[in-house]
Amino acid sequence: MNDQLKTDLSNLGSLLEKVKEQSLAYLDQLPERPTSVTQKPRDKESLQDHGLGGSAALELFNSQYEDLLVASGGPRYWGFVTGGSTPASIMGDWLATVYDQNTQSVKGQGDVSAAIEVDTVHLLLDLFNLPQDFLGGFVTGATMSNFTCLAVARQWVGKELGHDFSKEGVTQKINVLTATPHSSSIKSMAMLGMGSNNFTKVEVLPGNREALDVQDLELKIQDLKGQPFILISSAGTVNTVDFDDFKAIAALKAKYNFWWHIDAAFGGFAACSPKFRHLVDGWETADSITIDNHKWMNVPYESAFFLVKEKHRLLQTETFQNSNAPYLGDPLANFNYLNFLPENSRRLRALPVWFTLNAYGRSGYQAIVENSVEMANLLDKFIQQSSAFDLLAPTRLNNVCFTLQGEESQEHVAEFLTQLNATGKVFMTPTVYNGKKGIRASLVNWRTTAQDVALVTEEMQRVFKAVLEKRTSVQPTV
Ligand SMILES: *Cc1c(COP(=O)(O)O)cnc(C)c1O
Repeated sequence: MNDQLKTDLSNLGSLLEKVKEQSLAYLDQLPERPTSVTQKPRDKESLQDHGLGGSAALELFNSQYEDLLVASGGPRYWGFVTGGSTPASIMGDWLATVYDQNTQSVKGQGDVSAAIEVDTVHLLLDLFNLPQDFLGGFVTGATMSNFTCLAVARQWVGKELGHDFSKEGVTQKINVLTATPHSSSIKSMAMLGMGSNNFTKVEVLPGNREALDVQDLELKIQDLKGQPFILISSAGTVNTVDFDDFKAIAALKAKYNFWWHIDAAFGGFAACSPKFRHLVDGWETADSITIDNHKWMNVPYESAFFLVKEKHRLLQTETFQNSNAPYLGDPLANFNYLNFLPENSRRLRALPVWFTLNAYGRSGYQAIVENSVEMANLLDKFIQQSSAFDLLAPTRLNNVCFTLQGEESQEHVAEFLTQLNATGKVFMTPTVYNGKKGIRASLVNWRTTAQDVALVTEEMQRVFKAVLEKRTSVQPTV
């Protein structure tokens, strides 16, 4: 054994103790840590012939990078849709690393890790009030979950047309209908050989909505004259968290032949609260659903899951089977995750979710979801009462989409956001909505409090004044 490995093995206790101390220090001061930094250039190093050992590697990491890591898991990181990590999810994630299982087969002489994944999917179906007739698995994020679901959908369309696309390649155009798809579904279509341009846009409802117009959907379905197609629908669009009408889509599904996919990356969490559950009524009849764990579930990256109706198991196996390896056996008889999703070797990604669900239960997640919505409503109220900001859309759940007041201030939105993010106190994301430059704040972090919102709104006012003053001072005199 190499010297450094030998030393580290005998000092494992003190090495992990150091990491624990550092982790606690980081998590304790997370609310105070900046949400953005100005990157300082670092010298690139070359690989040492003789390694430093774990302890010195930690020191090197700390001197090179530690202070440049932003509080993306903290209570005021409202950019994109970014969750933090609950204590129990960190425990599960830590142990997933320590146990280092290769999670694949449920039966046979393998380990229990795939059974833990199956159990965790059952817990998730309970959490989301979904029936147990879905087969699920863990992937790195909602992008890969959309990819997995759309891959099975693609195979379904092939079958309807008398083809096996997995074996033959995609030989025919696949019809896709969608209204406000997330960019990752379009990216998945590109990766799946379906073509990112090849979708028909369904109209959205009038009145500042992003949800699809079911009447227009039915017209577009009729235009297809009975050809099979994929419908990509939304449970929570990223700008305004709008939901398609799943009960109405379920009624169409009884009339027409299509694969129904729902991207519920974060909006699916509406199901955790009796107040918001109605938003996903009817979603249980979908063929496939995408949900992220590393957003509103507040588990560490990388974690999402997919749900595909168990009745499509054969299609899913045809899509992902790793059958050219004879030692893996019959993919349908022996359930093995490597025949059901993109990866072969994979970590025990379910464990952080298993831990957090068991630690906090239904009521814990109801509280997280309701708190996020309450915090979003506080920000919404501030914007409505302010003479500096305007909402771009009503706050339907946990995201607030707004801009600076007045047409003439459109050119200052980017500058305002840059300055606001530069405070390091909060982070938000730019967007464009209905042709206007806007800003999006997405509240999903379990630690966000009313004090955080108050701190942010103060900063917003201060930065707005500063940007406005600069504007007047540089205006040429007439
Ligand atoms: C975030 C998000 C995705 C992509 O998820 P990743 O976890 O970043 O891969 C897809 N759909 C929606 C609606 C999202 O909010």
